[in-house]
Amino acid sequence: MMSLRIAGVVGESITDGPGYRYTVFVQGCHRHCEGCHNPSTWDPAGGREADVAAMLSEIRGNPLLRGVTISGGEPFEQAGALLEFARSIKELGLELALYSGSVFEELAADTTSDRYALLSLADVLVDGEFIMARRNLGLRFMGSENQRVIDVPASLREGRAVESRDERWI
Ligand code: SF4
Repeated sequence: MMSLRIAGVVGESITDGPGYRYTVFVQGCHRHCEGCHNPSTWDPAGGREADVAAMLSEIRGNPLLRGVTISGGEPFEQAGALLEFARSIKELGLELALYSGSVFEELAADTTSDRYALLSLADVLVDGEFIMARRNLGLRFMGSENQRVIDVPASLREGRAVESRDERWI
């Protein structure tokens, strides 16, 4: 398995999607948005190496979990290293949500890429970078109004970004 660098995990998060979620904060993000909630996740050499097997066993051992969220940092900067973890989450029947500073259209552009492979495993993508001037503290699982909650299976079927109508998310 490729090594994965993470900033940390939260075992029972209620702020990264609906229900109790296991959230992985991936280390490394080149965007450096003004007002980023977590600049300590920027350095790709920072954080620590993830123990993916231990993470999976923690997830398997918690029947309260409704989903897993991979946030950052920028998950798609380590897409290849996340593939096996993401596949295991889907095998467990849990909802997989990904956050990205890139938009769906960029992530879906190259169907041969690891980024596309990772995207295709997701149920939900919260996309777009954080834009300080469009910050809205009233949004449930997003920071700024340019960001979208994307229904990934529907979007890949239709070949365009389809925004989620799932009331748990929006
Ligand atoms: S994309 Fe996210 S993690 Fe990266 S700098 Fe912007 S707000 Fe921070």
